[in-house]
Amino acid sequence: MTGFATRQVHARAATSDGGAPDAAPSGRVTPRATPVYLTAGFEFEQWEQAGGHFGAGEGFAYTRTGNPTTAAVEQRIAALEGGTDALFVASGQAAVTVALLGLVAAGQRVLAASSLYEGTRGLLLENLPRLGIEADFVDDAADPAAWERAIRPETRVLFLESIPNARNDLPDLAAVADVAHAHGLALVVDNTLATPYLLRPIEHGADVVVHSASKFLAGHGSVLGGVVVDSGTFDAAASGALYPHLVAPSRTGGPSVAERHGGRARLAYLRETVAPRFGPTPSPLNAFLVGQGIETLSLRVARQSASALEIARWLAFRPEVVSVDYSGLDSSPSYALAKRYLPDGQGSVFTFTLRGGAPAARAFVEAVEVVTHMTHIGDVRSLVLHPESTSHVLRTPDERAAVGVYPGTLRLSIGVEDLPDLIEDLERGLLAAGRAAGGADDSSEADDTRGADDFRKETP
Ligand SMILES: *Cc1c(COP(=O)(O)O)cnc(C)c1O
Repeated sequence: MTGFATRQVHARAATSDGGAPDAAPSGRVTPRATPVYLTAGFEFEQWEQAGGHFGAGEGFAYTRTGNPTTAAVEQRIAALEGGTDALFVASGQAAVTVALLGLVAAGQRVLAASSLYEGTRGLLLENLPRLGIEADFVDDAADPAAWERAIRPETRVLFLESIPNARNDLPDLAAVADVAHAHGLALVVDNTLATPYLLRPIEHGADVVVHSASKFLAGHGSVLGGVVVDSGTFDAAASGALYPHLVAPSRTGGPSVAERHGGRARLAYLRETVAPRFGPTPSPLNAFLVGQGIETLSLRVARQSASALEIARWLAFRPEVVSVDYSGLDSSPSYALAKRYLPDGQGSVFTFTLRGGAPAARAFVEAVEVVTHMTHIGDVRSLVLHPESTSHVLRTPDERAAVGVYPGTLRLSIGVEDLPDLIEDLERGLLAAGRAAGGADDSSEADDTRGADDFRKETP
């Protein structure tokens, strides 16, 4: 197999059952980029084609059930994650929703790590319960025994984030996958913050991987998108009783999804039955733009992750800072798991907490000039957000503390800017935070008072 960077620009999964998306209109021109098929539907050139599409799902007919541009991006992401197939949808939220609706029904339960992206947590606590699907939460996601204890007869999915947004308290992926499989259950992993460049959950036993493609996969922050990737390992004999919708005959008595698609039954069900009915169809243009982003994924993520580690180390020594939640620091409780699961870099989205509480956080955000104040991550630009007053505002103070969000906590997403410029900007923020906290500037007491110039000397 070729290396990651080669695959990110050349891969077409050998696994597509979606036609030949890169094919040019025959004999005329050969576009280098994937053409954007910005069309609601496709002409049937022969009578039989129409029946073949509606009967056996062959070819392309209507963009809600499939589009060649979107299929090309799906195949590339499947190849990067090591999955057999992928389904591209309109947003990361749609990817999480579709993945779960393909596995759980009313009366059944989802078991999730409690350190989760807020949108997913809200879905589990407020939306899915209205459909009769309840959630249980595991506080210590690094402890496989805690997952084992929380499984109930109604549990159908174990769900976690490979790098939890934004606390970076890592789970033991392979151990949780073993627990899931011992019960015949599927493990769904949100791999948004890690990206397949840093971590491929399927290699550690995950059955389904979801992403917000709006973040690192796109990287440019111009569009939303989401993707569900499947390992292709559905085992009808071992798990069919838990997922009867995959093994039962069709409504009209035809073969089951598993009989038609074998190990790929889970994703086939999403593509045939869940996504086109609930309807989170992406624009082919958005799929194209995510595909453009993916071509530079490894370059961006390697740089962002290396800069984030330098910044996390630097912040940890600053007198204005109480704590830094970054798994690449040896002070992190997740450091051992990071060495095992994230040897090539620990990502670039993390939180740190200022000594001066909310006033210091506000002063920091208002002082920085390079780092942009907005609610997004994984962009080429560095971003900052104050979770207590924004993403986590609907939680109680105790619930916030449980995920490491305090009044002085800020979330950073490190971009591709020059490291010395970022350090200079963050220092500007910290000095403002120190003044807002009421104390005089006491940075001279720091153990390590490296400034931007020291980073300029270090970087060629
Ligand atoms: C942003 C995000 C989502 C939701 O994705 P959207 O594209 O914004 O809908 C899901 N999971 C994680 C970890 C995220 O960071």
